[in-house]
Amino acid sequence: MTINTQHRAKKALGQHFLHDQHAIQKIAMALPEASNVIEIGPGPGAITQALLERVGHLTVIEKDDRFADMWQEKSQTCDKLEVIHGDVLKVLHDSVQKQQPEWIAGNLPYNISGPLTAQLASHSLSGGMVLMYQREVGDRIMAGPGSKTYGGLSVLARHHYHVKRLLLLAPGAFSPPPKVHSVVLLFSPHGQIPICPFEHLQTTVRQGFAHRRKTILNNFKGLITAERFESIDIAPSQRAEQLDYDAWVRISLLLHPTD
Ligand code: SAM
Repeated sequence: MTINTQHRAKKALGQHFLHDQHAIQKIAMALPEASNVIEIGPGPGAITQALLERVGHLTVIEKDDRFADMWQEKSQTCDKLEVIHGDVLKVLHDSVQKQQPEWIAGNLPYNISGPLTAQLASHSLSGGMVLMYQREVGDRIMAGPGSKTYGGLSVLARHHYHVKRLLLLAPGAFSPPPKVHSVVLLFSPHGQIPICPFEHLQTTVRQGFAHRRKTILNNFKGLITAERFESIDIAPSQRAEQLDYDAWVRISLLLHPTD
């Protein structure tokens, strides 16, 4: 098998190929040796090759026929490699169910990184995730309450993980270079058992952040009264961006009471 880094990049698939060796090594070294890993979007394989030298089992999920075929061919002679040819947004949940990975890694296609992160954050992995984003999306995920960039993804990411920045990369680390900087985030399990289901938190957050400039009372009009907000220690005049993870969980439990 030949890895041709001159493959023409497809913009529609968010292809920016990493060639910075320091970044490649740092991403690979963040994963423990011999672990069971899923990589999203291997492309021509800058990260994939480094992972294959390190991990115990690697499943790659790729939508682009050229790369899926290439890795399929490689898997014929590499026992630890498995290939899933498909759209990660459609196959992620089943793949995690089947492969039971400890870790998920990837230089994510920027055009689907928001919805993909919402799916990824729903999985409680024993190891964690090492994911590359455009800086702006990474900042949104890392943001805390009170910040303009704090939003639904920031809350959802905290359900199972705490998140820290591992790397900041300039456009020149990629070919073709993107217009903006990129970041690599490390999601590590915080180990606390969530007290509401992820799906409930997700619908709650979606509704709560629907109109950022409105009060939380307005965003939940007809569903939660001012008195009920006060009963869970939330001022109804607050805006979504002021509420921390625990407050979102309390709202979620109000909307979806469990026995
Ligand atoms: N891992 C390579 C690297 O770091 O150089 C490529 C990263 S590139 C930013 C994103 C990769 O995700 C590409 O290989 C692209 O074909 C793949 N991809 C894009 N959309 C996808 C999707 N919906 N499902 C699976 N893979 C996808």
